[in-house]
Amino acid sequence: MKAQDYPKPVQELIARLKRMPGVGTRGAERHALWFLQHGRADARALAAALTAAADEVTPCPRCGFFAANGELCTACSDPARDSALLCVVEQPTDVLPIERCGMFRGLYHCLGGKISALDGIMPEDLAVTQLVERVRQLPGCEVILAVGSDVEGEATALYLAEQLSALDCRVTRLAQGMPAGAGLGQADAVTLMRALEGRKKL
Ligand SMILES: [Zn+2]
Repeated sequence: MKAQDYPKPVQELIARLKRMPGVGTRGAERHALWFLQHGRADARALAAALTAAADEVTPCPRCGFFAANGELCTACSDPARDSALLCVVEQPTDVLPIERCGMFRGLYHCLGGKISALDGIMPEDLAVTQLVERVRQLPGCEVILAVGSDVEGEATALYLAEQLSALDCRVTRLAQGMPAGAGLGQADAVTLMRALEGRKKL
C-alpha cells in the first residue's frame, strides 16, 4: 500500500517555498496549506507580483541600487540630492538603512560585495572602476566609505581609498560604532546617524 501524500502541485509548491531563506520544511508546508485553504484568491496576485519583480527590477545603471526597467533609481533621478556626496556601500540592501536614518541627502554607489581572498572576491569583481569613473566626473566631491567594519570591509575601504587618492575628492570613513563583523543591515538608525555624523577623513 502506498502512503498518502500531497498531490504533485502541492509537493512542488512546498519544495519551492522551502528554498526561500528562513522557510523550513514545516513553514513551507504551512504556507502551501494556507494558500489551498484560505488564500486561493491571493495566489494569482502573488504570482503576478513575483513575476513583475523578477522581470522589471534591474540595478540602477549609475549606482547599482534597485530600480525598474533599466531606469535610474529614485535617488539618482532626484535633482534635490547632493551629487557631490557619494556614499559607498557593499550591497544595495545597505542603502535603505542609511535612507531611513534620515540625515543623508547624497547619492550612493553599491559595490556588489567586499574584497575577500577567502571567498575569491577580488577588486575586479566589484564596481570599483565605475566608482573611480564617477568620482573623476565629480571634482571636489566627498566619498563616504560605508562598507562594513569587519576585516574584509576594512581591506575594501583601504583599497578604495588608495584607488581614489589621486583624484580630486575627500575620502571619509564612517565613525566606529558599527557592529563589529556585521553589515549595515544590522545597525539601527541612531547608530548609523552617529556613524555618519562622526565620519573621519581617511
Ligand atoms: Zn541610482
